[in-house]
Amino acid sequence: MRRSETLLFTSREANGHENETVALTVRAGLVRQFGSGLYGFTPTGQRVRENLIRLVRHEMDAVGGHRIGLPSLNDAGIWKRSGRWERFADEMFTFENRDGKRLCLAPSHEEGVTHLVDGVVRSATDLPVLLYQVESKYRDDHARNGLVRTKEFTMKDAYSLHATRGSLDEYYDRVRRAYARICERLGLKFAVTAAENSVMGGSASEEFVALADTGTLSLRWCGGTDCRFGVTDESPRSGLSAGDTCPECGGRLRAGEGIEIGHVFKLGTRYTAPRGMTVDVPDGSEREVVMGSYGIGIERLLHALVEQHGDEDGCHWPGAGLGEVAPFSVSIVPLEYDGEFRDVADRLHEACGRDDTLLFDDADQTIGERFAESDLLGVPWKVILGNHYRETGAVELESRDGTTQYASVEAVASIVG
Ligand SMILES: [Zn+2]
Repeated sequence: MRRSETLLFTSREANGHENETVALTVRAGLVRQFGSGLYGFTPTGQRVRENLIRLVRHEMDAVGGHRIGLPSLNDAGIWKRSGRWERFADEMFTFENRDGKRLCLAPSHEEGVTHLVDGVVRSATDLPVLLYQVESKYRDDHARNGLVRTKEFTMKDAYSLHATRGSLDEYYDRVRRAYARICERLGLKFAVTAAENSVMGGSASEEFVALADTGTLSLRWCGGTDCRFGVTDESPRSGLSAGDTCPECGGRLRAGEGIEIGHVFKLGTRYTAPRGMTVDVPDGSEREVVMGSYGIGIERLLHALVEQHGDEDGCHWPGAGLGEVAPFSVSIVPLEYDGEFRDVADRLHEACGRDDTLLFDDADQTIGERFAESDLLGVPWKVILGNHYRETGAVELESRDGTTQYASVEAVASIVG
């Protein structure tokens, strides 16, 4: 990607934002605000969002998920049938179309997924099944904290359907482990907290909460190695405080703030019973279908990453060297884009993969400005063609962590690849 041909929205100024994480998200040019709780994604921000979606899809596919696509625009009917047209009234965008029909923009899709499979899932042998999508959701929430609380957001929402509670328990654990892997691959510090089920209904649920100073959930979390125990004020054990003993590992609890990034629910028959959804079992009887639902907020992951990994120079994405989430994996930074530097920069651009590499080819930037912009974007590697190259013929490679090494032009792609 030539810098001269792409559109970067980086800026030095970011005044008047709610906190440093929101300011950095704007300064790095990932998003632009369209209104209260409404954001548009720039080419750079969209690359990060799509990288996150790819990672989440990978983990959902690995636990046997099947992708679906449900409409965001729903008839009132399916929501009235589940009883949530009234229950969700304060948060749901509802309206009437020109034919006088009541519609809503779906805030979640439990109703949608039961509608999709009703009448098709008939036998216990059709189950279990895990269905998921990554789509926009709409909630008329009071906007807060940049991408954390918005009116439109991207959610990976998954739903599992089962003939037995035991099967639901097994899938619930499976998706829960997938969520933990997603957080671990992203290098996020997080806790898993038991939660109550108010709007969703059902028997049990847990929240995945990322540690974040900008968070609004008051969190007590365990500092023990590999222990993810946590409580919020909504948890059944909300009385636990910092310094108390972790009930799971005996470690010490700490206190801080967090943001909810994911939620897993055992819904039981909350959404299947109103539709009379049953399956035939081999002994000739019928059994009620039980269900689980699992959501993870893509933009909330992005906010948590910016907050936990970012530093004074800019964003810092996990997996340095892998470029797993970063908008670009490599920056090619020539002292000047001219003469021999230009030839070598072009060769490196080609060798490192043009789509994933940012080539600083604009004439009007100093090398210092190029370094600063690359770091602000959080590109994991800078490949520098400067005085060291001119004197020795070796290219300088600097990681976003600040470690430096030298390599021949030919060796660069294999080191940063
Ligand atoms: Zn613990």
